[in-house]
This record gives sequence, C-alpha cells and structure tokens, in this order.
Amino acid sequence: MTGRFAPSPSGRMHLGNLWSCLLAWLAARSGGGGMVLRLEDLDPDRCRPEYCDQIMRDLEWLGLDWDGAPVYQSRRTEIYQQAFQRLKQQALIYPCFCTRAERLAASAPHRADGVSIYDGRCARLTNAAQEELSRTRRPAWRVRVPEMEICFTDLLQGEFGENLARDCGDFILRRSDGVFAYQLAVVVDDACMGVSQVVRGRDLLSSTPRQIWLQDRLGLPHPEYGHLPLLLAPDGRRLAKRDRDRELGCLQAQYTAQSLVGRLAWAANLIDRPQDITPQELLPLFSWEKLPKGDMTI
Ligand code: GLU
Repeated sequence: MTGRFAPSPSGRMHLGNLWSCLLAWLAARSGGGGMVLRLEDLDPDRCRPEYCDQIMRDLEWLGLDWDGAPVYQSRRTEIYQQAFQRLKQQALIYPCFCTRAERLAASAPHRADGVSIYDGRCARLTNAAQEELSRTRRPAWRVRVPEMEICFTDLLQGEFGENLARDCGDFILRRSDGVFAYQLAVVVDDACMGVSQVVRGRDLLSSTPRQIWLQDRLGLPHPEYGHLPLLLAPDGRRLAKRDRDRELGCLQAQYTAQSLVGRLAWAANLIDRPQDITPQELLPLFSWEKLPKGDMTI
C-alpha cells in the first residue's frame, strides 16, 4: 500500500493541512505502507517554489517522512498532455469558449457546495462556430461526461455516489492559459506514483466520482479513498490560508511539534487527552474505526 501527501504550495500549511497529512501518514505507515510526496504546484498564479521548500521543512518538523524524491506537478506537463490526448482520441474533449461571465450564466447554481453545473453549450458548437470563435479567444477544454452513476465506498464516509451529468456536468481539464486542471493531474499522478490509498479532506469527496471515471477512461487503477472530516474555524467556516492564526508559522510560536501532533491525535480520537506525542508513537494507535466522521471545531 502506498499513501501520499499532495499539498498545494500556495501558502504556508495550516492546521487543516497538517491534520490531513498526519492522518494520511498514519493510515499508510501503520499498515507498513509507503508514502510519497507530490507538490501540486500547477497554478503558476498561486504557487511559489519557496512554499514547496517550506512545506517539506514543515512536514519534517512535525515528524512525517516520505519515500523517494518529491514530485512537482509543474514539471509534468508532457505526461498530462499524453493523458489529455488519450481522452481526445476517445472524442471526450471539446473546446469551451465561454468567458467567465458566460460560464456563470451557462451554469445552474445547483449543488449544495455552491459548485455550478455547466450546461454544455459549447459541446453543441459546429466546427465552423468553433473556428470563428478561436480567432479571438483561446478555449478551455472540457470533458464530456455521461449520464452515469459512479459509486464507491469511502473508508470513512461509507457509500458515496454521483451521477456525473446531473451532479457534476462537463468539467474543465485544461484551462484557456494551457494549465492542466487538478482533476486530470491528480488521476495521472496517483497512478504514476503507485498511490493505492488517498486520504484527504472531505471537501474533495465530490471530486472522487470524476476521478474514478477518468481513471476508467485512461485505464488506470482505482486507489482506495478515505475522506477526513474538516477542521473548522470557531465560527464554523472551513480553515483557509487566510486564517493566519491557524498557519504553521503562528502555531509554532505556541506549540512544539509533539504538542501539536498530540492535539491533532486527540481530535482524531487516537488518544483521550491532548498530550505530547510523536507520529511514530501514534502508529500502533491508529485505526479507521476511531476517527470521527463529522467536521470539528478545533
Ligand atoms: N492539493 C490539494 C490540496 O492541497 C489536495 C488534492 C488531493 O488530495 O487530491 O487541497
């Protein structure tokens, strides 16, 4: 079994990232599994190399390790291009010329999580219309999804399924500036890196049916998935990079690595009170049954 860390280097890690990293590490290492590190630095507008270095220092500070060299998504464009080409050959990809405003207008504000569903209008463009539009606009590229229910059993959340056409809609695989989308890169990389267990926040649960469907289209294996409850700010919001007090830089002023690991392990029900402890010492205490399922304020 191989697990993974997949942080986005768009800032310093916050408590929510540490929570996912600690539990992903425990889930893999407690079963004697491997652990790999991938820096999800696809978006040049948001990601910076210095954050990559900082993330690695922070993981080490916490006491978490990984096997082999870290993988940087920004260096793997050719590999994503090959996967994109395979999907194109299956006639699953079409150019979308919608501007941001048009995209919003062309989408039903449907889902509970606020994600809107694209109505597929660019899928119906004639070749002539595509040519005409491409004179003035660079398209994004979408994948055409079928009316198909994709279900899986999450290690923590149980059965989860989505009908791709109804609940998700045709989604973007490549942005108009050429940057490949997370959904494509993650599927390609998890397979290339031999990842067999994905442990991440529950905010990504609804991406999983899309990823499983893409794995099938590309002939890639399905990892198992465990989606963790989220740590919330005291006012119930999701922790974000802007919650500076939950950022590792601030936390380090208040906690030692062992006391921070202890707080997270306590929140995860692995120990019954917050105490100083190392990730190594937690290995024999980890089990999926103990973990809470609902989001928590910490
Ligand atoms: N890079 C994503 C994040 O930091 C995680 C993606 C994943 O685990 O699939 O939120």
